Amino acid sequence: MTGTTTDTFGAEIMSRIDDLAALSESPDGLTRRYLTPEHRQANDLVGRWMGDAGMTVRQDAVGNIIGRYEGVSEGLPAVLIGSHLDTVVMAGKFDGMLGVITGIACVGELNRRGRRLPFAVEVVGFGDEEGVRFQSGYLGSHALAGNFEPALLERRDADDISLAEAMTAFGLDPARVGDAARRAPDVLAYLELHIEQGPVLESQGLPVGVVTTIAGATRLAVSLTGEAGHAGTVPMTLRHDALAAAAECILAVERVCAESPNLVGTVGQIAAEPGASNVIPGSVRFTVDLRAAEDPHRTTALDELMVLLEAAAKRRGVAIEIEKVHEAASVPCDAQLSDLIAGAIERSGWRVQRLPSGAGHDAAAMAGLAPVGMVFVRCEGGVSHNPAESITAADAEAGARVLFQVLNDFPGGS
Ligand SMILES: [Zn+2]
Repeated sequence: MTGTTTDTFGAEIMSRIDDLAALSESPDGLTRRYLTPEHRQANDLVGRWMGDAGMTVRQDAVGNIIGRYEGVSEGLPAVLIGSHLDTVVMAGKFDGMLGVITGIACVGELNRRGRRLPFAVEVVGFGDEEGVRFQSGYLGSHALAGNFEPALLERRDADDISLAEAMTAFGLDPARVGDAARRAPDVLAYLELHIEQGPVLESQGLPVGVVTTIAGATRLAVSLTGEAGHAGTVPMTLRHDALAAAAECILAVERVCAESPNLVGTVGQIAAEPGASNVIPGSVRFTVDLRAAEDPHRTTALDELMVLLEAAAKRRGVAIEIEKVHEAASVPCDAQLSDLIAGAIERSGWRVQRLPSGAGHDAAAMAGLAPVGMVFVRCEGGVSHNPAESITAADAEAGARVLFQVLNDFPGGS
């Protein structure tokens, strides 16, 4: 990067972040779900920015917005830069959006310089990554990678609208979702820039980092069934308190995960029945979310945890049922792309920090189609999925510079 243009990325990115954040289903916090009128508005706005950056713009069969900047000749295979435009409920404004806006900024810079690369560059704003509306994430990136699950078309949202119906209302043809799939030879690589959503870069004093792996995850639904009883009359020694058993289980999750720096475990949801202050809890359901960059760390911990949970329940005379409701293997980022990103960070003057991503990203779905590489940008306090999510303009600038450098360094790119 040279001279005056380096300072323009950050300011433009931050102002566009605010423009996109204004497109919200609720007035008091950012919520933008897949195939809503606000999704349409976001696609329109992002499409306009893509056009301004010299790209031809289209919406694909699943509702992703895609801009394409041709290379030295038309129709060349493309490097894809993407992230998502949907949000969680009461979201932050950088999660997903930053990657799309930064991609457009980089192409805009190529366009301003009149530069064509030996490959095309496409920027993708995925319509669904968070999965809030239909309880299934990565709908946009799975469709583009050719892994859309047709059975999901029958999935219904909270208002009893099926995915197929929502697509039709959005102007899409649910029978043609498969058309969103790209052919592997047409996609050279997938790059995603995303806020870290964790505190590592901040603790290291670094604006950017290279993602090594997108962590694998296991989610469990655990049910404990004891015996409800009168809180005043049943002696402690004769109780089968399901909630006390759950407490032991939760501490076991914490203990097992604390034993390894490579592991995180969370019990984020719990419900006790009958749920009265003067009744011994008879049954409890809780979730376990277990993640690790290396699959063996997760599966070993899972085995250990199963034994501990079952032992805790048995000791208390409480029945336990453990159901595995989700399992995803970890997805490693491509070594060559990661080195390119590391090189770009180094040339920008920062120490290279490599770190795994504990959160899932579109890159995990795109790895089914092409080699993937990810750049993380520092966010304040590691806070995300929260209206307080925040980054500085200087860090937005840093991320854009790295991404732009990666495009220039991409084999055949300079
Ligand atoms: Zn995200």
